[in-house]
Amino acid sequence: MNTKRKVVLVGAGFVGMSFAYSLLNQGGVDELVLIDVNKDKTIGEEMDLSHGLPYAPHKMDIKAGDYDECKDANIVVITAGLSQKPGQSRLELAVANAKIMKEITQNVMNNGFKGIFIVASNPVDLMTYVVAEVSGMPKSRVIGSGTVLDTARLRYLIAEYLQVSSKNVHAYILGEHGDSSLVPWEHCYVGCKKMIEIMKDNNHPMEDLKKIHDEVWKAAYEIIEKKKATYYGIGMALNRLVKAILNDENAILTVSTYQNNEYGQEGMYIGVPAILNKDGVKEILELKLNDEEQQKFNHSCEIMKENIEKEIKPILAE
Ligand code: NAD
Repeated sequence: MNTKRKVVLVGAGFVGMSFAYSLLNQGGVDELVLIDVNKDKTIGEEMDLSHGLPYAPHKMDIKAGDYDECKDANIVVITAGLSQKPGQSRLELAVANAKIMKEITQNVMNNGFKGIFIVASNPVDLMTYVVAEVSGMPKSRVIGSGTVLDTARLRYLIAEYLQVSSKNVHAYILGEHGDSSLVPWEHCYVGCKKMIEIMKDNNHPMEDLKKIHDEVWKAAYEIIEKKKATYYGIGMALNRLVKAILNDENAILTVSTYQNNEYGQEGMYIGVPAILNKDGVKEILELKLNDEEQQKFNHSCEIMKENIEKEIKPILAE
């Protein structure tokens, strides 16, 4: 493996380039290679990003490239594919993007990739499954961005609601990166105090918790309606995942990871809190869910399983 910290990005669109721009600004990666079916775009992006280097905190080799660059890469980040149109759900992208994921994964693996995959393309839980199946990599080395963005939105909204720093909000969104996600509020802390206690002690109506979660899952629809795409938040979230891996952090992040009965579910990728380090997902954190939360989580998983059977497996079999 390369001694340099090398990331290959497949998909130089809004999400990919927001991630790349955040890497440039925060540093921590030595080499960034951009791949896209639109080769001209990658060359333009290489030039544009590189012109920011004199003002960046660290040197970073940025280049437009091809799949042979995956051979010695630490991480391949996939942000290629179709994105939601206004009013469209993520699940509606499944078939078209699964074909794209399959092609990209084959290209990456045919070039001897031995690192870790991070997938952000939607519907992310299903696309991560596709990459895992096609690559044949250990499941722990194929990671989806899962509910990392949803969790960031939740933390931001709680912080605004209580007027505290979002860095002191420890709250997690579980389940599908999509409309069936859930918040286990019993496990939500602000500083070291339970969110539920804070609500009670300050006479805040408990219904506000539901309103906060509704705002989270509706956020993508609202942003897409207003500006056609969402990309800065996920760009930062992908950067956070890359750092957790490259710095061997053992950081707890709500990634889409393979279920081995941890929450009573198996056979699919879905968002749960997990410990991330240089080897990928080291361990899933098992939270005790109440009956209602478990039902919601099961519902999220059922949606994934149904889609895997109906939409994904036929594409994998082609
Ligand atoms: P975009 O259209 O701006 O970019 C997609 C890029 O993929 C384009 O540059 C396109 O040329 C490229 N591409 C398409 N097929 C390809 C292939 N076979 N090989 C290589 N490149 C290919 O879209 P975007 O806004 O950047 O969104 C990208 C994906 O990220 C979408 O699926 C979107 O829904 C998803 N997304 C995920 C999250 C999340 O939280 N996981 C958040 C926002 C968007």
